[in-house]
Amino acid sequence: MADKKISKTEPEWLLLLGPHRYRMLRYGNTERPYTGQYWNHHGTGVYRCAGCGTQLFSSQTKFDSGTGWPSFGAVLDEKRIERRADRKHGLDRVEVVCARCDGHLGHVFDDGPAPTGERFCINSACLEFESE
Ligand SMILES: [Zn+2]
Repeated sequence: MADKKISKTEPEWLLLLGPHRYRMLRYGNTERPYTGQYWNHHGTGVYRCAGCGTQLFSSQTKFDSGTGWPSFGAVLDEKRIERRADRKHGLDRVEVVCARCDGHLGHVFDDGPAPTGERFCINSACLEFESE
């Protein structure tokens, strides 16, 4: 993506995001399952990064994973995210980060549906839905 990277100071991020989103996007916290606004959301449209507005996921690839988090089979454009090894909590996971603002979004697992076989498990608080 040609968009320039966004960088802000910590106080600027906190002001922009509010404490709840700030903890997730900037510190990688995970919301409790079944508590976010989008895990059971079925609108048609696009999910943007709550940190910078980049379009990340389409409702077309959203599926009910039964995990209590919004789950997607694919990202709109692989260049809009970064995948990073995450060995926190003694787990071997792949973290998904917004390529533009470095915001933590969630994790990706390899037990998703066809055709990708991937499951992007994303915090509702890291997304902003835009109805079509
Ligand atoms: Zn972003």
